[in-house]
Amino acid sequence: MTKMKKEEPYIKTCPNGCESVLYDSHLILPEGILKCCPVCSQLISQCSQELYINSNQEWDSAEGTWPSKKDLKRLVKRREQTMKTVSKLLSKRYSEIRLLDVGCSNGAFIWIAKQLGIKAEGVEPAVKAAKAATELGLKVHLGFLENIKLPENAFDVITLFEVIEHISNPMVLLAECYRILCPGGILVIGTGNTNSWTRRILKSRWDFFDIHQHGGHINFYNPNSMAVLANNTGFSVQKTKTSAVKLAEKGDFPYLIYRILKIGSELLNVPTKILGKGHQMEVFLISNKLK
Ligand SMILES: [Zn+2]
Repeated sequence: MTKMKKEEPYIKTCPNGCESVLYDSHLILPEGILKCCPVCSQLISQCSQELYINSNQEWDSAEGTWPSKKDLKRLVKRREQTMKTVSKLLSKRYSEIRLLDVGCSNGAFIWIAKQLGIKAEGVEPAVKAAKAATELGLKVHLGFLENIKLPENAFDVITLFEVIEHISNPMVLLAECYRILCPGGILVIGTGNTNSWTRRILKSRWDFFDIHQHGGHINFYNPNSMAVLANNTGFSVQKTKTSAVKLAEKGDFPYLIYRILKIGSELLNVPTKILGKGHQMEVFLISNKLK
């Protein structure tokens, strides 16, 4: 492979199907200027395919994304909220819901869902993480969703937590979710929100942009670009929730100032949620498939 080829950006057009010419945003990352779609405002990394593949490989471990004891409590609370919303949107009790968690890592959310009485299984391409989940007695399919070929209409809900920002062609992934979801099924997508106060304050220092820290973040969504992707793949947005604000990254300021900014961030949590400006975004899409 020639040097020119290696430097070529991995994603060259809007991944949400806008067919637009991307322009340079004012945000500069180590791998180049973030590109922006003039139609949906999606921000797109200019990283090469080689950098993308390498940064993803940094992240396969048996520990995966299983949280610490304290963080597990917080995660249980957060995911219970998510599933309450899903249950309401589906008009189904937990025991009637068939769930697939795509990119399940070592299975923390499958475990939580099963505790709630939901029939849950997962998909994970990272070998060590998938093996760790299987050893816990959880049902996990090893590989990428598009290659596994699960049966049509097999699930009521599919969850994609912190997955879509890693994907170069989300339309292919959503098409497969559409196929295996039942009519009226729900797709939950959790990712960062580039329209957030945090992103606006931290600009290119927003840690979500860091390709190494998160193992291959290349696509950055906002509520509008998510709606465009949904509409182009047979879904409609039912609900968008955002949360959390961060005024500073640790290490950017002396400790005392960092602490003050952290308290300020916590005070802003409630207005952030109400105004939809949080940096964590959870979008509930409903499949438009007919019965
Ligand atoms: Zn676009």
